[in-house]
Amino acid sequence: MAEMFYEDDADLSVIQGRKVAIIGYGSQGHAHALNLRDSGVQVVVGLRDGSSSAAKAKAEGLTVLSVADAVKQSDVVMILAPDQVQRGLYESEIQPNLKSGDALFFAHGFNIRFGYITAPEGVDVAMVAPKGPGHLVRREYVDGRGVPVLVAVEVDASGKAWDLAISYAAAIGGLRAGGIKTTFTEETETDLFGEQAVLCGGTSQLVMYGFEVLTEAGYQPEVAYFECLHELKLIVDLMIEGGIAKQRWSISDTAEFGDYVSGPRVIDPHVKENMKTILAEIKDGTFAKHFIDDQDAGAPEFKALRDKGAQHPIEKTGKELRGLMSWIKDTDSDYTEGSAA
Ligand code: NDP
Ligand code: MG
Ligand code: MG
Repeated sequence: MAEMFYEDDADLSVIQGRKVAIIGYGSQGHAHALNLRDSGVQVVVGLRDGSSSAAKAKAEGLTVLSVADAVKQSDVVMILAPDQVQRGLYESEIQPNLKSGDALFFAHGFNIRFGYITAPEGVDVAMVAPKGPGHLVRREYVDGRGVPVLVAVEVDASGKAWDLAISYAAAIGGLRAGGIKTTFTEETETDLFGEQAVLCGGTSQLVMYGFEVLTEAGYQPEVAYFECLHELKLIVDLMIEGGIAKQRWSISDTAEFGDYVSGPRVIDPHVKENMKTILAEIKDGTFAKHFIDDQDAGAPEFKALRDKGAQHPIEKTGKELRGLMSWIKDTDSDYTEGSAA
């Protein structure tokens, strides 16, 4: 069983005694900054010149500084800009302003794990990674709950990095749900694998193939959309509540029998072999290099793939149908401009 941390394990006064710079005010950034502030922690937000996020942070009464000034004025720096910009931002604005005794925090281990960022001597390096999107991290905190977090320490220069990381995790509400002790390596590799093989890549492709097979066979796209995309949430909710067993208990015997006999034919052992290849390419850095090289070149491949995804016929059908389902809330509509999840 993994080692877990709960609120009783944390001393909130540790983080309350520090000054935290939150770099970036997007999905995670706004949630960390606001939850820390509401937990009695001194927070400043570091943003680039002309940042479109600055107004939102100021509207919350937060102090917004340049990234360099935020780092200078703080002794804990949480980097919550997108993974692909962290290395450049670190080299130009963050690293030159770090001093011995500071702590560098992350919500994902990518840049440390793949060597894009190396902290100077005397600086603690830790991670508090919520296992959910930032908007949920904030909403749960406000409602008196929390999103579970992974907690790791890569460099314990002060000898007190764990106390600090656990205190930070409590202050953003994560220990109300529970923190799992992990390492940067485990968090990074499993996070990338999960999103590529199952949660995002695997699921998106499964849904699109299902939709394609039905519509190419002449069935109505609206019906195909419900069967292959919309009902997925109902099934996943059952899995979250009671595992695959509860999902199978709730569905009809017809569906359950079909699950057993057809599931392993769709997702055949070949798929498991493909997943192992994906994992190997994550571990040896091939995926990280592919992503960062493309980003450094202005993201031509990323943008082309994003455009292609948006053209899939399932998106047009879905847009029309969701317009008829007034109970489906779509409040975070920034995604049409391509904001990452
Ligand atoms: P976002 O894409 O939401 O971050 C956007 C913020 O970063 C904005 O405030 C933006 O400011 C700022 N930013 C973008 N580019 C730059 C730049 N070049 N220089 C300075 N600031 C910049 O990030 P996420 O919250 O999605 O991710 C942050 C970290 O959290 C990542 O390490 C990610 O892996 C991790 N994480 C994310 C989760 C999520 O649900 N999103 C879940 C768990 C971990 P501007 O307005 O100026 O563009
Ligand atoms: Mg991720
Ligand atoms: Mg059905």
